[in-house]
Formats: sequence, structure tokens, C-alpha cells
Amino acid sequence: MAALNLARLITAAADTIAAHAEELTALDQAIGDGDHGLNMKRGFEAVRAEAEVFSAKPLPEALKAIGTKLVMTVGGASGPLFGTLFMALGKEISAEPDRANLTAAFGKAIEAVAARGKSQIGQKTMLDVLQPVHDALLQGKTAPEIADIADAAAEATVPMKALRGRASFLGDRSIGHMDAGARSTALLVRTIVETLEGQP
Ligand code: ADP
Ligand code: MG
Repeated sequence: MAALNLARLITAAADTIAAHAEELTALDQAIGDGDHGLNMKRGFEAVRAEAEVFSAKPLPEALKAIGTKLVMTVGGASGPLFGTLFMALGKEISAEPDRANLTAAFGKAIEAVAARGKSQIGQKTMLDVLQPVHDALLQGKTAPEIADIADAAAEATVPMKALRGRASFLGDRSIGHMDAGARSTALLVRTIVETLEGQP
């Protein structure tokens, strides 16, 4: 794995979320309340504003602090869930992670999100992207493969019926739309793996 430059990762993630905020909002408008783009943008801009503070910390502390910031600023259902993801990642990761440690820590972080959301794979949520990405890490997939797997996993939420979150209130009418949180997760996964690999 390439050297981890946290400031660069934060900038890239915040740029991606800002560039796709309207798309995320549109997805959430179809089967939710239309705030996911703004929620994510608010949170990642808050993280960007303190990028120097975060990147001065050892990686585990930085991830915990980013998670806390996301809980405080994203709001909605997704804020505590993304916050939990980063906080749990920070709890499990080592200061200079290799792929094995990153994979194990990511697995634990997904378990924490599932526990927090009382959710599991197949319910049309961010977990439907997180879990395949973890599987891909376990299988030794390359960064471009992982980014494509994340996109395909988000796409695969289209025919699912939502069983968690606001979209679940729609029942069968949630079918035929991509889950907004799955899309934002896939966007973040692509940004992170491409930034780590030094790709565009
Ligand atoms: P809200 O639903 O409160 O408006 P957002 O629009 O920011 O919050 O986020 C919605 C996203 O959060 C969904 O698209 C879904 O991916 C995710 N989500 C909602 N509830 C859960 C849950 N219980 N478990 C996992 N993910 C969830
Ligand atoms: Mg919403």
C-alpha cells in the first residue's frame, strides 16, 4: 500500500462529495427526504476545515476524531453510521497499517455499523457496498477492481427493497432506485483507493 497521506485523502473525499452532492440529493429525493447530499457535504466540509488538525494525529486518533466530527455534522441516519464506521476503524487500525490490518479493521468497523443500524446486507443501505468492498479486500483485489466492485454494489441496490432507514417506509416503491448511502459509500471507496494508489 502506498504511503498514507491523510490530508490528501480528506481533500479528495471532500472534493468528491461536493462534486456529487446534487446527485446524492436526487437519489435521496426519490426514496427518502432529499437531504443526503447536503448532509454529506456539510460533514465532509467540516472535516476538510480541520484537515491539518486531523492529519497531525496518529492514524487511529485521526480516524476517531474524524468519526466524531462526522457524527456531529452529517446528521440524519447516515451521520451516526458513517461516524461509527470511522470511529471503529480508528479503534482497530494500527498507526502504520498494512493491508491485512486495514482489512481486519475495516471488517470490525462494518460490524459496528451493522450493530448501530441494526442492519445487515441485502437491506438496501450503505452496508450493501461496505460488505462487498471488505470481501474484495480479503480476496486481494487491486485498487481499480475494488473501486469497480463498489460501483457495481451500489448499482445492485437498485432492484432491492429497502428494509432500513426512511426508504423502508415506501415498501415496494423503494424498488427501482439506487440507495443514496450506497452511492455515497461507493464514491468514497473509489476516491480513497484511487488516492492511495496515486491515480487520478
Ligand atoms: P436520513 O435517512 O435520516 O435522511 P441520510 O439521507 O443522510 O439520512 O442517509 C440515508 C442513508 O443512510 C440511506 O441511503 C442508507 O444507506 C443509510 N441508512 C439509513 N438507515 C440505515 C441503517 N439502519 N443501517 C444502515 N444504513 C442505513
Ligand atoms: Mg435523507
